Order: sequence, then structure tokens, then C-alpha cells
Amino acid sequence: MQNANALAAALAAGTIRIIDLTNPLSSETPTLRLPEPFANLIDFRLEEVSRFDERGPFWMHHNIHTGEHIGTHLDAPVHWITGKDGHDVASIPPSRLVGPAAVLDVTAQVAENPDYLVTVDDIRAWEAQHGALPENGWLLLRTGWDRFAQDREAFLNIDGTGSHTPGMTAETARWLAEETAISGVGVETVGIDAGRGAELDPPFAAHHHLLGNDKYGITSLQNLRALPATGAVIVVAPLPIVGGGGSPARVYALVDA
Ligand code: MN
Repeated sequence: MQNANALAAALAAGTIRIIDLTNPLSSETPTLRLPEPFANLIDFRLEEVSRFDERGPFWMHHNIHTGEHIGTHLDAPVHWITGKDGHDVASIPPSRLVGPAAVLDVTAQVAENPDYLVTVDDIRAWEAQHGALPENGWLLLRTGWDRFAQDREAFLNIDGTGSHTPGMTAETARWLAEETAISGVGVETVGIDAGRGAELDPPFAAHHHLLGNDKYGITSLQNLRALPATGAVIVVAPLPIVGGGGSPARVYALVDA
């Protein structure tokens, strides 16, 4: 209990700060748009049930309507064909959802090329400076893409050749999934694969390898610029939807002030 008390004391004293990495969730939140012939999720929507009126004189109630993979959200293994026998979002151990953050900044590369794919060499270079990717940790890819988080068109960056957003190479995905002890990868874009991830071998390699190896994904993160390369702890809190392949999630980072 001493450690938990120390954390509470640090929060109260302001020596640890909480940074919200979550994109606020509304019907305007940018969401994945799959091309024909694939089916799309519904966007998030509030439906008014009562509002201090005859339907409920003292209270406001809403129904919420949403797809699983909407806004800042977690991808569980069962989301992908390679992980279909793995954890659903309700059965992921909470210990895997709280852990150290390793922040890899590739904003310069992405500014030059929105289709930039993070390489194993990028991560090796990070490790040479900061040490090995942490066990039970989260690799967070800082791309600068969160500046588009309120602009659906810019966020998806779709032209005649598809969506142009950054991601990782197939080799990076395989290496992270098989050669590291991380819990997962967090990105600022709409999905853990690049916009042109269908062109990778295997297609959507980040989903294929990570979710197939009991590693998880979080998308549409913001404010990664406020995090140090190492030293932050992130808390990923999806809804425990039984049988769910994903869930909108609140994601916080705890950082030394
Ligand atoms: Mn997803």
C-alpha cells in the first residue's frame, strides 16, 4: 500500500502530472473509412432519452451508439484473423494495460512523407539511446498526426490512391510482435497500420503480427509531444465489452512534473 500512497501523494503534490492522450469522443470524431465493398462501423452518436422533462424530470439520459473501433480505441487480439482465438477486450489482463511508455518520435520523417513506415532501425536507434523496449510497455509512435485529430479529411488524407498516413513496415511489426516483450503499440493515426497497409506483406502487417502474438493496439492518441522518450506510465482503459474486438478507450499518461 505504501507505493500506492506515494503515487497519490505525488499526484496531490503535483510532482506527477496526468496527461490525457484521448481524442474527445463525438459524432465528429474522425473514424476509419473502408473502401467498397467492405462494411463500415457506425460513428459515435448520442441519442437523447430524457432531459429534465416528462421522460425524466430530474435527470438526463442518453443511449450511446458506436462502433467498437471509434476514436481513441483499443484493438484486442480477437479483432484480427490471426488473433481470433486470443483475448477479447474484456479478458485482456489489466496488468497489460498499465505500463511504461517508450515514445519514438518520427515527426520529421512523417513531415517529409505522410506514408512513412517506421523501421526496425528506427527502433534500434531509439534503443541505443534509451535502452531496450520495456517489458509490459507500450511503444508510442509520435508522428505529429494528432494535429489533424479534429479534421476528418486531413486525418484520413485520402486521395485517388488511398489513405496516406504513417505506420510501420511489415518487418517492424513482426519484430515487435515476436522479438520484444511490449504489451502493444500506440499510434496517433486512425489505425495501427499505415493508410496503405493493405499493400504490405502480409496485408495490414501490424494487425497481423501484433494481434496474432497477444499484443494490442491503441489508435488516435494525442499529446504524445508532452511525453518524455522514457519515464511515463500509461493507463489504457477500454470498456470490458464481452466478446468485443475493441473498445473506445480513455488513455492517460502519468509523467514526472
Ligand atoms: Mn481498431
